[in-house]
Amino acid sequence: MIMNGIGSSPGIAIGKAFVVERGRIQIAQYNVFGEEAVAAECARFQDAILRAESELEAIKKTIRSEFRDLVHILEVQQMILRDRSIYDESLDYIRKERLNAQLALQKSLTKARELFGALNDEYVRSRIADVDAAGERVMRILAGQEYSSLDTIRERVVLVAHELSPSDAIQLQIERTLGIVTEVGGRTSHTSIIARSLNIPAVIAVENATRLISSGDILVVDGTTGRVTINPSEKEIAFYAERQIQIESYVKEISRQAHLPARTRDGYSVAVEANVELLEEIVAVRDNGGEAIGLYRTEFFFMNRADMPDEETIFRDYRDLSELMAPSCVTIRTLDLGAEKLSSWYPRLEEVNPALGLRSIRLCMHYPELFKTQLRAILRASAAARNIRLMFPLVSGIGELRQAKQMLYEVRDELASEGIPFDEAMPVGVMIEMPSAVAVADMLAREADFFSIGTNDLIQYSIGIDRSNEHVAYLFEPLHPAVLRFIKQTVDAGHKAGIPVGLCGEMAGEPLHVPILLGFQVDSLSMNPQSLPRVKNLIRQSFMKDCRKLARKVLRLSTAQEVNRFLEKTIKKILPEEFRVFGPNSSYYGEAPKVLRSSRK
Ligand code: PEP
Ligand code: MG
Repeated sequence: MIMNGIGSSPGIAIGKAFVVERGRIQIAQYNVFGEEAVAAECARFQDAILRAESELEAIKKTIRSEFRDLVHILEVQQMILRDRSIYDESLDYIRKERLNAQLALQKSLTKARELFGALNDEYVRSRIADVDAAGERVMRILAGQEYSSLDTIRERVVLVAHELSPSDAIQLQIERTLGIVTEVGGRTSHTSIIARSLNIPAVIAVENATRLISSGDILVVDGTTGRVTINPSEKEIAFYAERQIQIESYVKEISRQAHLPARTRDGYSVAVEANVELLEEIVAVRDNGGEAIGLYRTEFFFMNRADMPDEETIFRDYRDLSELMAPSCVTIRTLDLGAEKLSSWYPRLEEVNPALGLRSIRLCMHYPELFKTQLRAILRASAAARNIRLMFPLVSGIGELRQAKQMLYEVRDELASEGIPFDEAMPVGVMIEMPSAVAVADMLAREADFFSIGTNDLIQYSIGIDRSNEHVAYLFEPLHPAVLRFIKQTVDAGHKAGIPVGLCGEMAGEPLHVPILLGFQVDSLSMNPQSLPRVKNLIRQSFMKDCRKLARKVLRLSTAQEVNRFLEKTIKKILPEEFRVFGPNSSYYGEAPKVLRSSRK
């Protein structure tokens, strides 16, 4: 059987499936008979409440005092667990209607939701999300469904999951994860980004994967075409094994040249840099010819831990990175937490539109202590090798940039008065990720030392496509004429003000997109380490004069599909081998996937 999704990390994986049971909670439905059974069911329910309370208590302990409002959310959930409408009602349902604990809880939750929703009090109504969160916790405990932990996997498998969060993804045991298949996600969701940087073939947006695939099934995952074959025939296995060899030998071949400079055939140099989430990736950056770190996504260091790291711990991380890469430059981005990037010490906020919510620089402004702790660590780390650049993510306009810089100046003054050294000339840049930032790029350029275009978010916000939503993934078009114009406008505004403009979204690591970016005169491209050899190879085979011509031509095309077709022809000409091995980039465009018919769970 063949299933189709979106190829989000290239390569072929062949192996046994491991289905991650998570997401849907099974609600057992039965009645309890006899006094003894009823008493036992009540005790089971009360135990589950106690456990949920202590889980919430444990999370609360890991949250530092500056997050008082988040502690409050957890306290509200604790109160809900003991609220009459949940606690007493559920016990009543068990005793009087002889329902099992899960059914009783489900019934009382439904009633509580209706009750809260009908009240004329905005605050109480806004607590429905907390009722759901608290209820889900108890439901999961009653179902005996702990979050299945990925570190229990003991053999080499293809992971099949409804969803993997970015923090799951960084906990993957690389040597045991042959491939990944998920039902949700987009090409630039952070789970896809991590799969690419770990070089694990992945297919996302595979409708019903966890229902149709069973643990132990043999799977072939083609991360380039987005095809997943369940229990393939011998002929199919032989075909994919051959493709696997072709891809690996091509990548090996070009990787041998990865240390050569990224210079076009007519002598134009482009800085080719790497995006990293964790320090451990530096080896891959070096092996693949990365010249610098164009984006350090610092939030990942904050994500997989029980509590918020202190200044000293963060400082050591940045100092190590700076020393490992010196004298090459290291661009540290301030915290971009929120939306899909969550941590256990930072509870999930119930936001209807998290991508438009309290995330990134806004979250940092909301918690100045958190932000200042990070700024202190970055500044202190900048003292030694003086190769650190700092950049602010998701800046929407000049006011926000000034506010962030003001905090930086305050921290600099504090350090100076304490006699702690830092690099006074540390460049401070801005990520251009929002249409509003593009519109005022000329103003931002006057107050920034460099720009870095984050196309993952720029595409999300300019086309209005949630980057991690599989239902609209087919509309996530990097080559949309509006996106291309935004990139060009940003480069021109930056250059007019005399500052360098780089690009660190996933477009930078996609060979098909690189000729346009070169033609737009982007100064640096920063990408996942695995893409470095392919992009450097492409640059070395290109003529800048052709790229400029191509860029002028594509700006006159009116749809992403037209641009895509034109670029495919170009790549076929410049790099026939690359095209033969990886094929056309069809997973970007085409029909709305069938997945549109299913609902998100
Ligand atoms: C981007 O948005 O393009 C970017 C590089 O940042 P992130 O993917 O971490 O949001
Ligand atoms: Mg971004």
